[in-house]
Amino acid sequence: MGEFSSVRTVTAAKQHVCEECRQPILKGERHHYLAFKYDGDFNTLRSHVECSEARVAYMRDNDIDEAGFLIDEWESSGEPMENMGFPPIVEARLRQTEADRAARQAAQAVKP
Ligand SMILES: [Zn+2]
Repeated sequence: MGEFSSVRTVTAAKQHVCEECRQPILKGERHHYLAFKYDGDFNTLRSHVECSEARVAYMRDNDIDEAGFLIDEWESSGEPMENMGFPPIVEARLRQTEADRAARQAAQAVKP
């Protein structure tokens, strides 16, 4: 991650994927659109409003200046989800992403 230069709340004109939880942002859904520079490169990303706020709270509560996306923070922490202190709606999305990945891996495992 890098320095954010702007955060806007926008309405999705089409479906996107939330970078924090990897779950869909549905068409018509209000979400955060972030524009920032990282290593000199200009980037944009989209996230659910709740996920974006959960990230800010997570960094504040853990007294850290930089954090990866929520899904990565959780996976690299090795902690049970309930220890992460995320709001229930964000927890539910991260659990869904985990379930989706497990289902994909299971589907690949049965292929020859
Ligand atoms: Zn999200």
